[in-house]
Amino acid sequence: MPEVLRDHTTLRLGGPARSWVRATTEDEVVDAVRRADEAGEPVLVLAGGSNLVVSDEGFPGTVVEVATTGVRADHEGDDPTCGGVIVTVAAGEPWDPFVAQAVERHWVGLEALSGIPGSVGATPIQNVGAYGQEVSQTLASVRVWDRRLRGHRTFAAADCGFGYRTSRFKADPGRHVVLEVTFQLRQGELGAPVTYAELARTLGVEPGTRAPMTDVRRAVLDLRTRKGMVLDAVDHDTWSAGSFFTNPVVAAAEVPDGAPAWPQPDGTVKTSAAWLIEQAGFGKGYGDGPVRLSAKHTLALTNRGGAATTDLLALAREIRDGVEQRFAIRLVNEPVLVGVDL
Ligand SMILES: Cc1cc2nc3c(=O)[nH]c(=O)nc-3n(C[C@H](O)[C@H](O)[C@H](O)COP(=O)(O)OP(=O)(O)OC[C@H]3O[C@@H](n4cnc5c(N)ncnc54)[C@H](O)[C@@H]3O)c2cc1C
Repeated sequence: MPEVLRDHTTLRLGGPARSWVRATTEDEVVDAVRRADEAGEPVLVLAGGSNLVVSDEGFPGTVVEVATTGVRADHEGDDPTCGGVIVTVAAGEPWDPFVAQAVERHWVGLEALSGIPGSVGATPIQNVGAYGQEVSQTLASVRVWDRRLRGHRTFAAADCGFGYRTSRFKADPGRHVVLEVTFQLRQGELGAPVTYAELARTLGVEPGTRAPMTDVRRAVLDLRTRKGMVLDAVDHDTWSAGSFFTNPVVAAAEVPDGAPAWPQPDGTVKTSAAWLIEQAGFGKGYGDGPVRLSAKHTLALTNRGGAATTDLLALAREIRDGVEQRFAIRLVNEPVLVGVDL
């Protein structure tokens, strides 16, 4: 029986893969990718499947499931006199248990990224972010297998091309297979300054001040759970790929009246995709088919059970086109599309 992508994606969508390799060591990852490349076989690297929209026809090549493990710190215990701790994590390690471990071991700077599904190795791909933190703020380097040069490479953070939900890895799709990610983290009991207004309110602190990391993690998990952004197999509002559209970054004059506006250093302004979608007439729970907007979060397209990828794309197009007609702003999908277009 072929593996079916539906069983490996959080949207529970996607047809069969021609072949499947579950790689539990780095050598297995590289060997599987190299063998497929030498045979001219398409390759899809997958870990948690939480940011993927795969065609109902499936994938006509080899899926390499990255299931490597290991977390290495350069020293143990708290050492307030040193410059923090350097932690290297195998790509296949699940992200949220790593964040939990960081909070427990007093490693600062990942706590607001609690509750995000998927693997450590996928976090540099779109510079995962939430509640005012992004991995680019603490990531030191990424070690990859470069499929074009057929060799190992290490990119320092400054060479990763990080931006809002993007990186050089996302801009050059499929070329780099992430093997390990290294973080440089300060040590302490208090988290990084809380910059996100909603999180600061929940914690009862002024924006820009610090709070105990355990409190930050708890508050973030609570906020995310209320929005259906923590995976829960019995809650269809979480059968999603997280936010389906990124927040558009536009010229200041293009921001609609009343829309949230976050000025960017280059003079452009980021506005809220959720606001645009709601104002264009697509409220929470919108839709009457097997794919609907989450009842808890406007930005998540969710599988209510038995949906096909074509259903998801139909709703995504309806929303994208509705927003464009109303505001002349074209929303862009955040998840990676495999074998389909929007
Ligand atoms: C409920 C929910 C909430 C979410 N919330 C957030 C959020 O708050 N912030 C946020 O940024 N994202 C969020 N996401 C999106 C998603 O969790 C992240 O993008 C996550 O990093 C994807 O990890 P993954 O292992 O599941 O990647 P996958 O879905 O398996 O893959 C995603 C992409 O990364 C590539 N990839 C995966 N692993 C590797 C590797 N080792 N080397 C090279 N390429 C690789 C894949 O080829 C694919 O292109 C959310 C998703 C869900 C379902």
